[in-house]
Parts: sequence; C-alpha cells; structure tokens
Amino acid sequence: MMVIVDFLWITRKEEDYMVELNYEFFWKEALNQILEEIGEQEFNRWFAMVGYRSHSDNIITLGVPSNFYREEVKRRYKNNLEVKLKLISDQDITIEFEIGAVTPQIKIKEETEKPAEPLEKTTEPTPAAKPVKDKKPPHPHLRLGYNFDNFVIGVNNSFAANAALAITKNPDGTAYNPLFLYGGVGLGKTHLTQAIGNYLYAHTDLKIIYTSAENFLNELVDSIGDKKATNAFKNKYRYTDVLLMDDIHFLQGNKGATQEELFHTFNTLYDSNKQIVFTSDRPASELKHIPERLISRFGRGLSVDLSPPDYETRCAILKRKAEAKKAVIPDDVIALLSKNISSNVRDLEGAFTTLIAYADLAGKEITVEVAQQQLKDIFASPKQANMSVDIIIKVIAEHYQLSSNDLRGKKRSQKIVVPRQIAMFISHEITEFSTTEIGQTFGGRDHTTVMHSCNKIKEKMQADPKLDASIQKLVGLIKEYTAKS
Ligand code: ADP
Ligand code: MG
Repeated sequence: MMVIVDFLWITRKEEDYMVELNYEFFWKEALNQILEEIGEQEFNRWFAMVGYRSHSDNIITLGVPSNFYREEVKRRYKNNLEVKLKLISDQDITIEFEIGAVTPQIKIKEETEKPAEPLEKTTEPTPAAKPVKDKKPPHPHLRLGYNFDNFVIGVNNSFAANAALAITKNPDGTAYNPLFLYGGVGLGKTHLTQAIGNYLYAHTDLKIIYTSAENFLNELVDSIGDKKATNAFKNKYRYTDVLLMDDIHFLQGNKGATQEELFHTFNTLYDSNKQIVFTSDRPASELKHIPERLISRFGRGLSVDLSPPDYETRCAILKRKAEAKKAVIPDDVIALLSKNISSNVRDLEGAFTTLIAYADLAGKEITVEVAQQQLKDIFASPKQANMSVDIIIKVIAEHYQLSSNDLRGKKRSQKIVVPRQIAMFISHEITEFSTTEIGQTFGGRDHTTVMHSCNKIKEKMQADPKLDASIQKLVGLIKEYTAKS
C-alpha cells in the first residue's frame, strides 16, 4: 500500500492571507522535496515533530519539541532546506527554531480507505476507520482497555503514538518494520502495543499474537523435549501476520535457545513482510548480553522512545481517567497530583485510584486536603528505582566538593561538567538503568547527552591513567556506601 503524506494547513487571519500563504507554500514545497530526497521513513523520523510556527521578514520559524530535535534537525537539514527555499522562492529565507509543544504536522493515510484520524494532543476519542467486522470473541491476549481512544498524546509520546497508528493503516510490514518502542516503566509501551493489536483485531482478519518476551521463553521451555510441541510452538509464531512482543529486555539474562528461536522467528516474519512490534525498557543498542545479529534486527525498522509526560499531559491524562470513571475531581486536585507525581503514568494512575477508592469508601468528597492527607507518603518518597543513581550522585558530589543539585542541574562550568559526566558514566557502567532513565535522573536530560558523556569519559580515561584510577576508586566508594545503606 502506498503511504502518502499531507500537511495540516494553519488557519490565518484574512488580512495576512497573501503573505502567509506564500511562506507556508514555500515551506510545504521544500518539505515535499526533502521527502522525495530522504524517503518517508527518515522524513517521518525528523519532520513528524516539526511544525510551522510563524514567519517574519525572510525568516521562517519552526516549532520543535526539544533541544535534541532542534540540534538534530538543524545539523541534518537546515542548510539543505534553506537552499531549497531559495530555489523555490527566489529569496534568502532563514530557518529558525523555537522549542515548545508541537502538534504533529504529518498524517499518514492509505489511498483507498479512510484511516483513523491521527491522534492529537488531548483530542477527543478517535472514530474507528472501518465498521467493526462481525462481532468476534475477545482476543485471548489483548485487553480491550488499551486502545487509541483513551491514550492521551503529549510531546513525550506523540511520535510513538503516530508510528503505532501508521502501522494500523499499513499492517503489511511496509510502514515501519519492526517498530521498536522503548522507554522506562509505566510510560505506555504496553498500552500502545496492545492498542495496535486491538485495532487490527477489530478491523481486519489478520492473525495477531501479543506476547511478552518472558511468556515466549516460558512457552519455548515448556515445549522442549516434545517434538510435536516444539513444532507447534514454532509454527504458531512463524505463521502469524502480526507479532507484538512486549518487554524484550527480559531476554538479556536468557542466552541461547530463546534468542536463537526469536532470531529465526524474526527472519521468517520479516522476510514475508509481517509486521513486528517490540518494546523494551532501553534502546536496542544498550541491551546487554544479546547477540549483535539480534540487536541489529531490532533496530532495522523504526526505533522510537517514550519519555515521561510533562505537567500538561499529566493533567490531561488524569482528566481523561476521571471522565472514564465518571468521578468528579476538582482541578486543583488534578494539579496537585500532576505536580507531585512526575515519574510515569503508572504511578500517577496508582495515586489517582487510591484517592478515588478512599473517597468512595470513606464517603468523602475529593479535595486538596483529602488528597494531601491520603497521598503524603507517595508524595514524599523518592523513587526507589533511582536509589542507586542517587547514591552515585551523592558520592561523586562529595568527592568533588559539589552539591548533588550541581550534578543534576544545568550549570556548565568546567568544575561541574566533568564530575557530572563521570557520574553519568559510572551510573551507566554499574547500574542496570538505560541511558534514557539515567538522563531522567540527571535533571531530565536526553539519552544522547548521557551517551555523549560516557564517550567523553571513556576517551579521557584512555588518555589519562590517573582519571581511570580515580574512577575505580569512586566506584569502590559507591559500592561501600550502597552496602551500608
Ligand atoms: P509500560 O508498558 O511502558 O510500562 P503501560 O503501557 O503499562 O506502561 O502504562 C502504564 C499505565 O499507564 C497503563 O494503565 C496505561 O493505560 C497508562 N498510560 C500510559 N500512558 C498513557 C497515556 N498517554 N494516556 C493514558 N493512559 C496512559
Ligand atoms: Mg509494559
């Protein structure tokens, strides 16, 4: 199936019409040309999150969701786009970037059928594309509650959600294969993956398997020694149309047969254009103890990360959950929860459910006071998962006579930058956390920053044996400290 891209037009005031139209037209034309040049996949990777914002004398301002996008899009395409704009408009137009919430500018749709609307930030439920086929029994692996309608989109997940939607439009393995969704716990990986399954199950006759890597392993182990069972296992996974495999980081500790079997399953499905979706708590390149040939398969299609939702999105999620439960939650309570629980959606949901259950049982109205009282432990507790990175930061800060906040913060003085890089490097070396998670602990930095820091320190250690020795010493201190606490 062909995928075509069309751009959202921005409504403007009448009097601006002539000029606005020209600039937007130039931009649209330049985008079309670049799409031709770099192909749809790379295009969507970088331009899905770039929005036309405004213009002033020969400057076009584009919105991008983060520093990371700004730097990457700038480095990769700014010159190229400016050259194209010059050829199209016969004017010197400069491109500038502005960071802020961006509504994806791209819709991907089939030529023949009307697809589901692309999800936009906090939009209303999406109508289904095609009428639901004859009522089927519930799919044995899928939970109906995980669908696109109740998935709230923010900057943190819109790329992932749109990639997932693209697959529901083109489930023939040509859109993004495999789709590799990664990110920390409770950020919506399972929800999105199952939403793909639910949508396709309701609207197509495709055979769909959803499984966790752990379940895959268990089934394999159960079948070993029984030839018939082993064959049945192989056939089940190799003759499906869509394979959704959750939490493949689980395979890290399980060498051998499972990885081997997954490798063959992957090849069979991939070669016959069957859609595959993997989720993982970290990027493929950071999976440990998994053979290179499997890792390279994970990364063959499109990898997209989910990061924690921002404040606005957290509020939107809670509002949506309250509506679904028909619960009346005052705005100030929603604000209180959203402000205090920023780690992930699962924690946010947990606190919310606790609160509703309490109010229900105690027959009380939900107010800020009630919420503060009931959730004080949750608000106060540091994230358990970040404990070891916290200790690393503490020990390194003490050693360099800095504060923990210096290391987490944004200050760029040389005195702080190197210890901060060391702290990231050690965190990456001695904990199981992914660079995405480490980045979050260090003041919400991007995983590429963590990777960059690790590389810098590795380089420095090679050049300077003294640094190497002092890092060894610091690791020793951290281990001692951890053992005591
Ligand atoms: P993960 O698989 O990444 O650990 P889940 O998909 O299990 O996370 O999400 C945790 C919980 O948060 C689920 O109940 C899910 O429905 C909910 N959730 C996550 N992201 C969103 C979102 N953007 N909108 C609505 N609910 C969400
Ligand atoms: Mg999950």
